[in-house]
Amino acid sequence: MRAIVFLLFVVLIFFIARFVLNRIIEIREKQNQQAMQNEKEQQVKQNDHPEEMVRCAECGVHLPQAEAYFDGKDTFCSEGHMQKYHLKKTENDE
Ligand SMILES: [Zn+2]
Repeated sequence: MRAIVFLLFVVLIFFIARFVLNRIIEIREKQNQQAMQNEKEQQVKQNDHPEEMVRCAECGVHLPQAEAYFDGKDTFCSEGHMQKYHLKKTENDE
């Protein structure tokens, strides 16, 4: 009789240990998933602004920096506006 009680006790301990271990693994996985999700969200946030918007100094239109013309100081929507802007500037200087 005592042996059976002892055996049941061991089985009970075994199940409790397994339950606790499963809980720990579950919590850890959740934390890992959350960390991964946070990383993804941060990457998405960074990808939200892959290129900066710049303003044409001539007409004031906004366009991605990659498509803009840059003369070293000002940005322009087109080469024509860059030339126009420089022409006006030199006219004003004189
Ligand atoms: Zn322009």
